[in-house]
Amino acid sequence: MSKLAHYASYPGLSRGRLYDEPAPQHRTDYQRDRDRVIHSTAFRRLEYKTQVFVNHEGDLFRTRLTHSVEVAQIGRTIARALNLDEDLTEAICLAHDLGHTPFGHAGQEALNQRMAEFGGFEHNLQSLRVVDLLEEKYADFPGLNLTFETREGILKHCSVKKARELGELGQRFINKTHTTLEGQIANVADEIAYNNHDVDDGLRYGFITLAELRRTELFGRQYDKVKKRYNALPEKRLIPEVIRRMINVMVVDLINNSQHMLKQYNVDSLDDVRHASGPIIRQSAAMQANILELKQYLRVKLYHHYRVRRMTRKAYRVITELFDAFADDPLLLPPDYSEKLHAQESDTEKMRVVADYIAGMTDRYAITEYTRLFVPGELS
Ligand code: MG
Repeated sequence: MSKLAHYASYPGLSRGRLYDEPAPQHRTDYQRDRDRVIHSTAFRRLEYKTQVFVNHEGDLFRTRLTHSVEVAQIGRTIARALNLDEDLTEAICLAHDLGHTPFGHAGQEALNQRMAEFGGFEHNLQSLRVVDLLEEKYADFPGLNLTFETREGILKHCSVKKARELGELGQRFINKTHTTLEGQIANVADEIAYNNHDVDDGLRYGFITLAELRRTELFGRQYDKVKKRYNALPEKRLIPEVIRRMINVMVVDLINNSQHMLKQYNVDSLDDVRHASGPIIRQSAAMQANILELKQYLRVKLYHHYRVRRMTRKAYRVITELFDAFADDPLLLPPDYSEKLHAQESDTEKMRVVADYIAGMTDRYAITEYTRLFVPGELS
């Protein structure tokens, strides 16, 4: 690996962990963070959680696990090109979705709505809660005890109110400073990954069409190039060829433009990164406009497709009814959660236990729980 840039996050200069630990022997602290994420229970559950398509609808669609791996791949490429810390980038990328509820955004909306009186539910905060508190794997501390920089990167968004409760970690949302470049990369790599794989999954599902997609600048330009060069290529190979080129142009533009931003903002240290007048890791204005066009297309044609909306509706209902049942009678919870709930004093804390239980479910576990609770004749 080439030498890290001055503005990279050096593991030796980390602000440390919540609980002091001896330094790892053959790894850096950020490598250890990455490894802990991979060994976590929440990470394995990502295999059975989805964003847009419900898991059991087909085996070829992305799950949150394959999504996270794709984000990490893209993130590492960018980090290496900019001489930044790859392990920190990867740790943040792999952990970024750990707090997601089953069924993607519908699940999160339902939980947020039911938790409105009890502090709400937000998946970024929940990811942090998973790594700080909910994982129970180590004898000496709760959670995974990750470094400050990984935790900061995981917390992509946060309201000022919540930020105040988080102390040092929430500081940047109050004084409007920025996270590390590695954290900024994870953010953009997430977007590059889902825009591209949603095109892929959407086409495979038949929710969106090549004829329409070709009219978007990003897809159309690469499609024409591939068509020109490989005229007789069957669609099955043509589509992934176009998509891999789309990922490439987005990544190359991002690397070039970020290098330009580093110069423009005169960045020479991590401190300069934090205090720059804007985020540094970003695409050119032209690329951003193209991505926006693609996103708008996906929103109308894919995310609002009647079959996606039907799945969304069902998901919302499953999560809402599970919450209401457990909130109404906590004794319906499995014993460990029920004990945890009864140990809490306030309703706010009690309802948080219910939210944690539901958020931790995979899509299929949520459906099974729903069936056990509400379908007569099913085993409980
Ligand atoms: Mg994501």
